[in-house]
Amino acid sequence: MPEATKIRAVKGTRDLLPPATGLWQRVEDEARRVFAAYHFGEIRTPVLEPADLFARSVGADTDIVTKEMYTFEDRDGERLALRPEATASVVRAYIEHGLFNQGRVNKLYYIGPMFRRERPQKGRYRQFYQIGAEVLGSEAPSIDAELLEMLVLLLDRLGLRGCRLLLNSVGDSHCRPEYVKVLRRALENMQGRLCADCQRRAATNPLRVLDCKVEADQPLIAKLPSILDHLCPECRAHFERLQAELGQRGVKYELAPRLVRGLDYYTRTAFEITSDVLGAQNAVLGGGRYDGLSELLGGPAAPGIGFAIGLDRLILAVEAVGQLKPQEGLAVYIAWLGEAALPPAIELATELRRADWSVELDYEPAKLKKSLGTASKLGARFTVIIGEGELASGRYQVKNMATGEQQEVPAARVGGYLQERIGSTFFARAEIGR
Ligand code: ATP
Ligand code: MG
Repeated sequence: MPEATKIRAVKGTRDLLPPATGLWQRVEDEARRVFAAYHFGEIRTPVLEPADLFARSVGADTDIVTKEMYTFEDRDGERLALRPEATASVVRAYIEHGLFNQGRVNKLYYIGPMFRRERPQKGRYRQFYQIGAEVLGSEAPSIDAELLEMLVLLLDRLGLRGCRLLLNSVGDSHCRPEYVKVLRRALENMQGRLCADCQRRAATNPLRVLDCKVEADQPLIAKLPSILDHLCPECRAHFERLQAELGQRGVKYELAPRLVRGLDYYTRTAFEITSDVLGAQNAVLGGGRYDGLSELLGGPAAPGIGFAIGLDRLILAVEAVGQLKPQEGLAVYIAWLGEAALPPAIELATELRRADWSVELDYEPAKLKKSLGTASKLGARFTVIIGEGELASGRYQVKNMATGEQQEVPAARVGGYLQERIGSTFFARAEIGR
């Protein structure tokens, strides 16, 4: 038979395997817990969407839509896309299911994969994951403040200190066009001195120049007029209320007048949180207001605000800080010696598993030394040994794998014995050292 070639994962995508996925679960659990405390409900939208949804919301001439989106024609000719982000999907669902009729703000969160065809590197993948939340139906600055407070709490729960919250207002349809005119004029005076991308942006989408990452451009960009000097009275009042409330809630932030977000639909509040433990890709999350998005997608007027956390980068940061432990692994390994010990071993395993303990046992006859080796390789906290002698006496050996200490325990007492030693702490959330 000819040797088959190996099939590998698609470039920019990766398999996440245990035990690494234990940390992902831990982080997702923390997020769900914090979101629940702020009364957010989970929404799960499809990964496949009409391509037009993103062209209309994210913006037809953004990098995401022109260069990064995976689009294809379905067999019946419909243009589909793998979602590059989820805010547009959430707003589509909000309109499609008439959630605005519920007479209150809607607070929704999601966790799932997104797809962008970017150049893969550390912290940047073609399939990546986001945890995000959206609040629809109100433009009250109190909502912006609450959302940011919630994010800070989540990062704190994950043990991430050294994060910076960068805050800006990008104005709205009243004041931004005026600012863009001013910006355009300022850029005309810099013609020829900025990078090629910026020269192009200066003509097509001047706000994007502010987002330029090219080092040599930064001194020039720093000289450009600030949008904060051009906000209309309504946007200014909104931004001031937000800052006052952040102060009241004890949320620390830095004003970042050059912060614009990569998507077209943002209005007013825009923010980003960066982590100093990440390298070049240091933005852990981004978000902001999008008061016109619902109408852009054919829905009613429904102001909204949201954020998306890059989960892959969040995990990198959590690993770098090393304070959050993955979900607990194996509690008990059962080593049985001789065929006669298998049925009681199975019985004990079943009993412990029904009590939610994580249990592993030998599937094939093995020598004690090998079983103990397996148990320690798997990180078992305790090993229960059932051999001929133990069968005869009805007392099993229970070995604490960390200390090596071994004790004889009556068969019926093993569950209780383990409970006393690890039971109370085993499922409890590991406390984060502060
Ligand atoms: P960046 O400037 O890093 O490209 P972005 O502005 O494109 O980010 P958003 O669209 O705001 O990012 O998405 C929110 C978060 O999702 C980002 O802050 C980042 O943590 C994460 N993210 C975005 N693109 C990727 C990717 N290709 N791989 C991994 N994470 C990503
Ligand atoms: Mg990007």
